[in-house]
This record gives sequence, C-alpha cells and structure tokens, in this order.
Amino acid sequence: MPTSPADLNPKLQRRILLPVLGVLAVSFCLAVALLLRIASEQDRRELSRGTDLARAALAERDEQLQKTLADYSAWGAAYQHLHLTFDFDWAYIQENVGPTLFPSYGVDYVILYGPHGREIYGVKEGELSDRLLSGEIGGGLAAVVAEARAAPENESPVATGLGVVDGDPVLVVATAISTGGDQSVTYVPGPPTVLVFADRLTPGDLADMGRQLHVAGLGVRPAGVEAGGGPTETLVTKDGATRLALTWRPEQPGREMVGAVLPGLAVAAIALTVALLGLLRHGLAAAAAVTRASADLHQAHRMAEHQALHDATTGLPNRLKLMAHLETRLAAGEPTAVFFLDLDRFKPINDTLGHAAGDEVLRTVALRLEQAARGGLVARVGGDEFVLVLPSRGQPGLETTCAELIAAVAAPIRLEAGEVDVGVSVGVALAPDDAGGASELLRMADIALYEAKNGGRGTFRFFSAEMNDRILERRTLEAELRQALRNGEFVLHYQPRLDTQTLEVRSVEALIRWNHPRDGLVPPSRFVGLAEETGLIVPIGAWVLTTACRTAARLSVAVSVNVSPVQFRAEGLIDMVKEALRSAGLPPGMLELEITEGVLLEDADRATATLNALKDLGVRLSMDDFGTGYSSLGYLRTFPFDAIKIDRQFVSDLKGSGDARAIVQAVVGLGRALGMSVTAEGVETPEQLMLLRADRCEEVQGFHTGRPCPVEDLAAMLSRPADGAANAAASRVSAAS
Ligand code: C2E
Ligand code: MG
Ligand code: MG
Repeated sequence: MPTSPADLNPKLQRRILLPVLGVLAVSFCLAVALLLRIASEQDRRELSRGTDLARAALAERDEQLQKTLADYSAWGAAYQHLHLTFDFDWAYIQENVGPTLFPSYGVDYVILYGPHGREIYGVKEGELSDRLLSGEIGGGLAAVVAEARAAPENESPVATGLGVVDGDPVLVVATAISTGGDQSVTYVPGPPTVLVFADRLTPGDLADMGRQLHVAGLGVRPAGVEAGGGPTETLVTKDGATRLALTWRPEQPGREMVGAVLPGLAVAAIALTVALLGLLRHGLAAAAAVTRASADLHQAHRMAEHQALHDATTGLPNRLKLMAHLETRLAAGEPTAVFFLDLDRFKPINDTLGHAAGDEVLRTVALRLEQAARGGLVARVGGDEFVLVLPSRGQPGLETTCAELIAAVAAPIRLEAGEVDVGVSVGVALAPDDAGGASELLRMADIALYEAKNGGRGTFRFFSAEMNDRILERRTLEAELRQALRNGEFVLHYQPRLDTQTLEVRSVEALIRWNHPRDGLVPPSRFVGLAEETGLIVPIGAWVLTTACRTAARLSVAVSVNVSPVQFRAEGLIDMVKEALRSAGLPPGMLELEITEGVLLEDADRATATLNALKDLGVRLSMDDFGTGYSSLGYLRTFPFDAIKIDRQFVSDLKGSGDARAIVQAVVGLGRALGMSVTAEGVETPEQLMLLRADRCEEVQGFHTGRPCPVEDLAAMLSRPADGAANAAASRVSAAS
C-alpha cells in the first residue's frame, strides 16, 4: 500500500490534488473578502451612529437649555422685576433668576441685558459675577443677543447659538422677557430686556455626555487641527468667526472582528489544508487499494461465476449454464435443436484404467464435440452425458450433425495406458415442435437418447410422440408392478438342470413370471428391466429367494436363483440370503446364485467382497449367460465361482464343427481347469445334447430336457425317473453317434 502521494499515480495527483488545493485557496480568499466587507460595513454604520449620537447629544442639551430659558422669559413677574425695573433682591437674593439655575439645570452663565442693550446682571456658576460676563464668552454671543432683541413686541422666541470659552464650546440661548400673557403686569412698549443662559461644555461635560450615549472620547478641538484623523462634526459660532470640531473615538467593531477572526481563519485554513492533504494522501492510497481490491474481487467473482457455471473436468458449461442458455433461446422463440449424448462403453474404462484415464477420455470427447458442434453450446450434464444446443435447421441437416458427432467420438482415443474406443448415442429433440420449455425439451431429448441406446448404441434418434407413449406405458407398468408385489401376482416356475450323462435332475432354476390379472402369464423379459431401473427388483428378488428356498427345502432339491446386478449392488444382499436360508431351513449348499457379468464390471473390489461373503455363507455361485458380455476370462480366475452357464446363443449355433462348438469346448476345458462345473443353457435339440455330451459338458438345461414348470408340477417332474422324453431323446442321440 502506498504511504505518500508521491507513490501514487501522478496523473491521479494532478486530477485530485490540484483542484482540491485550488478550491481551498479560492474558498479562503472569498471568506476573507466577505469578512472585510462585513467589517467595513459595520464600521461605516458605527461611524454614522456616532455622528448622529454626537449631534443629538448637543441638540438635546440645547433644547433643554431653551426650555429652561422659555420658562423664565415669558413670565409676568420677571417682566416686572427684571424689565420694568431691575430688582436685584428679587433676582439674586430671592433666588428667582440666578443662583439656583446652575445647581438645578447646569446653566453656567445667566446674563441679563437691559433695554438699553448693556449687561446689567451676570451670574456664573451660581455666583454673582463682579465683572462683565459678555466679554468672557467669545464667539457668537452678541449675535444671539441681537437676534433675541429683534423679537416682535412682548414675545419671547428663543435665539440660539454657539459661543466659546477658553476653547470650550458654549451653548448660548437668549430671549426677550415678555409678560407671558400675565394680565397683572402691564406691557410697556419699547426695547426689551434680554435674558441669556449659556452652558459651557467642558471636556468633563462632553465626556459625561459621551458616556451616556456610548460615544467614546467625545470632545472638541479647534477646527482644522488634525489630531488622530477621527471623525468630526464641525461646530460654527453664530458670528462665523470660530469653528470648533466636535470629535469622538468611533468604535470599529468590524476592524475588531477582523482582528479577532482573521488569525483564527488563517490558522483554520492552514490546518484544513494540512488535514486535507493528509486526508487526500490516505484517501488516494485507500482509493488505490480499493481499486486494486475491487479488481481482485471482480476477478474472484468472475472465477467463482465461471466455476459455478462450468464443469471442472472438461471446462465445458454445466447444466446450470445450459439451462440458462436454453431458456434464453426459447424465450426469444428461436428454433432450437437439443442433442442429448451419452457415451457408450465409458464405465469399463473408468473402472479398469482409473479415474485419471476416465477424465482424460472425457476431456478428449469434450474437445471433439466442441469441434463438431459448429459453434453450438456443448455442456456436460452428467458423468458421461453431454448436451449440444444448436439452431434448428431442419432434420436432414441435423442428421448430418448427429453422424458427425458420432464419428468424432468414435475415433480411437490415445491414452498413456494405450488406445481406447468409446462411442456415443444421441437423442435429439426440437423446439418448438417437441417442447417449448427447456426442461421439457431436455427430457424429450433424453427419451430419444434412451431409444437410441436401446436401438443398439452408436446411433441417434429423433424424439417422436410414440416414444413418449412408450414412456407413459412404462409408467403404467411400473405402477402395476408395485401393485403386483403387494397383491402376490408373481409366481415361480422351475426348470430342471440335468446331468448330461445320466440326465438326472441335479437342481432346478427358479424363473419368475407375473400372473397378470388381465394379460395372463407375463415373462420376465417384459418387466425385469423396468423393475431393475426402478429398484423394485430388490423386494421382488427377496420374494423370489425366500419362495425358492422354501420350495427347495420342501422338495429336497437344490435350487438356483437369478440375482440381478441391481440387487447384487444393493445393501443387505448377504442378510437377505441368510434370512431366506434360515426361514426355509435350507442347507446353504443347496442354493446357487446366478450372477451375470454385468455385476462384475461396475466395481470389481466391491463385487469380490460381496461374492466372498456369499461364498462364506456356503452357497454356490455361478456365472450366468457366459459369453454375452465382456467375457473376460480373467473374471473366472479372480472371482470364486463354482459354475459357468454357457449362454444359449452358443448352444443354438452348435453344429458338428464351427466357432460355437470350439467356444463350448474351450469353456468346458477352462471350467475343468478351474474346478468349475459347466452348464449349457438352451438345449433344444437332441443333436445339441449329443454334441454337449460328446464334449463332456457336465450339465444341460433347455426345453429339450425340461421346460420351466409351475411348482405344482415340480414334484411330479422330480419323482419321474430319468427317462421320459429327454431320456428318449438322449438314447436316440447315443444310438445315432
Ligand atoms: P436366464 O437366467 O438365462 O434363464 C434362462 C432363460 O432361458 C429362461 O427364460 C428360460 O425359460 C429360457 N430357456 C430355458 N431353456 C430354453 C430353451 O431351450 N430355449 C429357449 N429359447 N429358452 C430357454 P425366462 O424364464 O424368460 O427368463 C429370462 C431371463 O430372465 C433369465 O435368463 C433371467 O436372466 C431373468 N430372470 C428370470 N427369473 C428371474 C428372477 O427371478 N430374478 C431375476 N433377477 N432375473 C430373472
Ligand atoms: Mg439364469
Ligand atoms: Mg442364462
């Protein structure tokens, strides 16, 4: 896993790192710009608030002063005591206009100008002034007084203006004293007496005003003198000669905010950048890891998917994929041919040469089928079963394909162990003619395959409705077979096996028949096969064994019973035999089990074990139908057989000379060499009996020496002396020879 961005793909870095840093920088700049804008806006607002407040503070102070003045000026008593005559006693001693105005209203100066225009009375800060106050207040005092003096007769409008004392601004208000509507005082026309109130705004006063209004550093300085460059409100005296600048220290919340926030913002931005870079580094590393992991996962998923849909041995699609493929085709309504293929003679290869060889054969076959498949889908659906799906192009073309498939598989396969031959049988079903659904179509192809196998392997069949009928017939038969077992419809017939020389009955073979309620006596060839396929042969075989043993015990005759390969391989055969002997009370030596070669082909080791176990019970074993199957002479040496029964096809071909006789002679010789008795089956003519006798075959069985008969006739047959028809025939033969 990479640990630094440098390890990463530079392209990826460029694609992710640069844009992220760019966005970060732009965001930071935008944030700072926004902050400054908000700050300056706040400062601007604060400035105008300060200006308004400062102005308002002065105006309010002025207004208060005017009101106070108005109370004193439009007043009858004042008109009388200050204007008509100046009554010092009334004014100052009696405290009507003078000493109380300072402590009560903060009026610093009270000045009275008589009708002649001269200052006649002055109180400064509550104290009587011994000198003229007019000269003390510079600026616009005279102009304000002049304005007041110019008021209409007996009226008291207030004139205001600004004066200066030692550089402090002074609010000056002045008005003419009138009767104020007092009827007790007589108005005398003429120049008025003017009363002036003035309020000196000392630095302390201004500071107090500022504190009350939250305007910091409120003060004045002469206009034009730059000091600190703060905001100013210019105050001009009434005469225009003096200009004062009202100043204050404006608060700058915006600037403060910027001061407080900006360092934090900068630190945050740096931290964010560092964190982001770290995050990005890990993120990129993680992304790379995730990309790799997801690629791995994808790969694993694809492998798992492939495994789920393919056969491990051949690599061909399996049944699952086949079904999906078929269903897709059929859903799209595409005409489709399904070839069901089953290898012939595969099992012996697997059994004798081992599974590795078997797998090799399967792989070779798979390859050949794919080559012959013309782009169709080949799937392996069972041990030695394959399915080919092709577009259906009409039967003639499909027949050619079948022939090609069969030829392709039939070619010899070279293995390490040598060359082997397998064949293949093919069943074909077509959609939409035979079936519409995938499973149904496969089933039809399987039915056709079954027919092809029955028709002699290495061939093909197309599905037909009759095949289906046959299948249905088989189903009916199967149901009936179960019923037959329950209803006791089976019977045993017994056919004698005779000593070739003496023609004495040495034993009898039990042969099953089905006493069908409708069809009468049904031979085993019509139902044993199906009973084997369905497993019904196991309970049926148990019934045969028990019944035969009982009969043998009752009539004191040795009996041979046919054991089907299915029954032989089923669990519990040994116990079943033991139980049959026990329940019948038959000595084991009087029971012989006839086994066909098919039994030995499947699993040789297991077969040997079963045969030995049977042998240990004390029963006899014979190989039935010898010569029809693989007929490996090796089997006879390997397995503990007591007898060989030569198949009747050799006996029926028996002539004075020829292959059949040579084979019979060879088998007889072999039996003698291995210590086994040899029985010839299907002896139908005296000539056959004669030849067998001449060739010293020990035992014969056939229609000529005795047909299978019901148990009721068996006692009679056994009690007959060894003459009768057979004996007569034998005599004729010996006479002829
Ligand atoms: P298999 O064991 O070879 O029995 C001999 C068959 O040959 C019998 O036919 C018998 O009737 C017939 N046969 C005897 N002599 C002659 C003859 O001279 N000429 C001709 N053409 N046939 C002759 P079946 O009874 O029809 O039985 C046929 C086969 O059915 C038996 O062949 C055996 O393989 C099987 N089978 C019969 N009974 C049973 C049984 O109880 N269990 C099992 N598993 N199979 C049975
Ligand atoms: Mg038999
Ligand atoms: Mg036989």
